[in-house]
Amino acid sequence: MLKREDDTPAVPTAPVTRVEPFASRTRVAYLSMEIALEPAVHTYSGGLGVLAGDTAYSAADLNLPMVFVTLVTRQGYFRQVIDADGNQTEEPDPWDPAAHAVPLGALVAVTLEGRSVWIRPWFYELKSPTGGRVPVLLLDTDVEQNDPVDRDITDHLYGGDETYRLKQEIVLGMGGPRILQALGFDIRTFHMNEGHAALLTIELLNRFRRALGRQLPHFSEYDYGRVRDMCVFTTHTPVEAGHDKFSYELVNRIAGDLLQNGDLKDLGGTDHLNMTKLALNLSNYVNGVARKHADTTRHMFPGYEVRSITNGVHPGRWAHPAFCRIFDENYPVWHVEPEALNHVDSLPDETIWQAHMTAKHELADLIRQRTGTSLDPDLPTLGYARRMTGYKRPGLLFRDPERLLAIAEKTPFQIVIAGKAHPRDATGKAAIHEILGISGRLADRLKIAYLPNYNLSVARHIVSGVDIWLNTPMPPLEASGTSGMKAALNGALNFSTLDGWWAEGCLDGVTGWAIGDGAPSEEDGEDLYRKLEGTILPLYHDDREKWIWMMKQSIGRIGSTFNTQRMMRRYGAEAYLR
Ligand SMILES: *Cc1c(COP(=O)(O)O)cnc(C)c1O
Repeated sequence: MLKREDDTPAVPTAPVTRVEPFASRTRVAYLSMEIALEPAVHTYSGGLGVLAGDTAYSAADLNLPMVFVTLVTRQGYFRQVIDADGNQTEEPDPWDPAAHAVPLGALVAVTLEGRSVWIRPWFYELKSPTGGRVPVLLLDTDVEQNDPVDRDITDHLYGGDETYRLKQEIVLGMGGPRILQALGFDIRTFHMNEGHAALLTIELLNRFRRALGRQLPHFSEYDYGRVRDMCVFTTHTPVEAGHDKFSYELVNRIAGDLLQNGDLKDLGGTDHLNMTKLALNLSNYVNGVARKHADTTRHMFPGYEVRSITNGVHPGRWAHPAFCRIFDENYPVWHVEPEALNHVDSLPDETIWQAHMTAKHELADLIRQRTGTSLDPDLPTLGYARRMTGYKRPGLLFRDPERLLAIAEKTPFQIVIAGKAHPRDATGKAAIHEILGISGRLADRLKIAYLPNYNLSVARHIVSGVDIWLNTPMPPLEASGTSGMKAALNGALNFSTLDGWWAEGCLDGVTGWAIGDGAPSEEDGEDLYRKLEGTILPLYHDDREKWIWMMKQSIGRIGSTFNTQRMMRRYGAEAYLR
């Protein structure tokens, strides 16, 4: 193990033996820039991290031999505060690793700008509702052996400039496997969750170099086949700008020569180091996160075999306690076998409605505390919560405020909104400002509550407490989306464009409703208003029996399918244990 003699950590470290029971059985390592573990642990920003967290919970439920690796992100992503003018402002969102994890007495180094940057892992033991456990390692460069300039590398999620970002990706992709090796993990399969972890492939190529290579012409000293056999890659981004790219000049300045003989350009692209390309070239199993997204990925990167294990959510984490009680009573196996939820159909209407109303009242309480707005639990509530960014079209619902008002006067309803914009996303920030302006102007006639600081706990309240879950991405730009799956599990009915997972989950008039036909269209806004006014709100007000029947279809058909238990069984069988 790499450990320096002057190692005198400020926090007392736990002996490495803490992870030994895990290390001896673990075969699969999952690397992700963000993982949402629990509300007080700020190591995530949004959907990608929540998926990683749900993945870890299912791995624990299913007893999969896995370890999860991410950065400690001491300062979090950011805390959203809405100011008096209706603008998002950002504050740091720190958390205390020592309150949730233990630092292990192990150090490894990566070389950045010619300096050794030491990394210490924190050990977080994740326990799932069924009592399963998996280890999570949180990588930290805030150790006293480091030059002060390197101690904040693992502080800010998606913060800083591209140099900062590259350093983080080196810590995750190259430091991650080194830490695992130092802790005695014998990893056979590495899963890269998005391209942020793709430098892992470089680390493995260098680890398994072949000694005699240079004596033979056209013989690479790098064992591509061996590394490819070890790597699984999930891509999440159908937006070209969403793929990380670094100039070779920057890479060379920060990390030196990563590979000999120009091999890096063969793998990562001639102009820039494209992390998606790098991961695609060195993974034996590549996954898109829904069928439609896999098709999009095949068009963006022709020549690669792209599978489609559709994303899911962890049922035990996302079902409201009132629904958990019903499921526990009627289908005790539902935690590990959510297929059992298919039978929800036969439960009494009253049982489902009461559980829903419990969640709806809790959401109303939270909204009153945080915003001062009092919602009416008897009115249909439309929810929209996610990252505020252009392609998700957060303004679509509000494009004609007069029309929205006219609908509300005929068939009363109310709206709950939440979402952060990335600090540098001007379009997303403008959308927040616009929505807040409209909600202020309509306040007397249509209640629109904006819950600030969307995060795990706000999400839990919103997805379970609304009646209708709206999503309006511009197809085909939503890779999967998962919030609608959480809503469905709690009996909220999805109303969305046919993109990502909803293209698979929508049975119009049964599990929810479609906006548009799945093609990118300027007509989506009109279709939204037309269906809301003509179909959805009248059904809620006039035919509660049919509405509850649809709630049951939503829980049964979507909850039984779009979950991470099914997802992880497929990753296990098709990608990890080949
Ligand atoms: C589920 C979740 C997301 C993902 O939402 P999408 O609508 O799928 O983009 C983002 N943020 C939080 C906090 C979540 O819980």
